[in-house]
Amino acid sequence: MTTDRSKSRQTGPNTLLAHGPYDPRSMHGFVNPPVVHASTVLFESTDAMKNRKSLPYTYGLRGTPTTKALEDALSELENAHETILVPSGLAAISIPLLAFLGAGDHCLIVDSVYSPTRQFANGTLRRMGVEIEYFEPHVGAGIADLMKPNTKVVFLEAPASNTFEMMDVRAVCDAAHAGGAVTMLDNTWATPLFFRPLEHGVDLSIHALTKYPSGHSDVMMGSVSATKETAHRLRETQMQIGVNAGPDDVYLVLRGLKTMGVRLERHQASALELATWLEGRDGVGEVRHPALASFFDRDLYERQFSGSSGLFSFLLPGSFSRAATFLDALEIIGLGYSWGGHESLAVAVDLSDRTICKGPADGTFIRLQVGLEDVADLKADLERGLAAASSVT
Ligand SMILES: *Cc1c(COP(=O)(O)O)cnc(C)c1O
Repeated sequence: MTTDRSKSRQTGPNTLLAHGPYDPRSMHGFVNPPVVHASTVLFESTDAMKNRKSLPYTYGLRGTPTTKALEDALSELENAHETILVPSGLAAISIPLLAFLGAGDHCLIVDSVYSPTRQFANGTLRRMGVEIEYFEPHVGAGIADLMKPNTKVVFLEAPASNTFEMMDVRAVCDAAHAGGAVTMLDNTWATPLFFRPLEHGVDLSIHALTKYPSGHSDVMMGSVSATKETAHRLRETQMQIGVNAGPDDVYLVLRGLKTMGVRLERHQASALELATWLEGRDGVGEVRHPALASFFDRDLYERQFSGSSGLFSFLLPGSFSRAATFLDALEIIGLGYSWGGHESLAVAVDLSDRTICKGPADGTFIRLQVGLEDVADLKADLERGLAAASSVT
């Protein structure tokens, strides 16, 4: 029996998703890992208990064969040393920030960040005595000018939440490292299939597994995949705080991963088709989709990403009531937060908390999560919304 799992590094991403590092031979041949519900793990002896650091499992909170199967699959996809699982995407943001920041430290965060990340930084981190500063997404190597002797973390997100600005990840990370900071990137939009941050100088890659990995709008979970240098501190902080992900939810994400590649292909194709179609419509302003030829950061996208997912925005010029009329006329596309599931969603984007990357002078960005429905039906739905909005200024 071979134990060499390195075969995975030579295989394509869909083979990786289908097989993962979990070895069915370790579980009597069953193709999926068991769902292990556990707190207590029994030890062979007092001696084994004393030397438990050498054992794979010691307590439910520290992990089970179920959590390990998902952690290992994500580590392999992200080319990371280790991955931790937490109960939400937001916890996958707050825990690494808590791990690497303390009173008196300075933290740089991209201004176009996911809004709850800003709320955590402005709330909890500032209360802890951390100095928070926001920077423009196109800063590139210019981040060096913002680095201070006490800058411990540079936090990135690519593309930008809701407005899709791209970043030169390598340039920012190199300058951050030169200044002694750890770099983190929220990689939820691209998934590890389309972008692998650790290969661009990022130390910690963050995912809301709630989105594409789970894929069915029925699970909340997050992950952080770390380099060898940052993994220990991350894991110890997770254990000190005392959070992990529950086994049934972990199993659902493992199941979701198996089909993530084919789902993303469809999300990608449908979103591109709708974005291209929207570009030519009356009453529609700028369409912000990283893979569109007209997109201002297309170069940065092409250089770093190998594909696009199903989330993009477009501008509806005019009053907010025009945007509300558009949204309220939709029949298939639901109004709701989150994304990455099978069903299409739309929201009016709120950019009021931005300090640098402000919202448009006129109009409202509508963010679309393009699901797995037939594109013709989604087009007809958008057409319905635009027709309703055309009577409002
Ligand atoms: C949704 C989301 C999160 C948070 O995920 P939850 O599981 O909803 O907490 C973090 N980052 C980005 C970019 C997201 O879209």
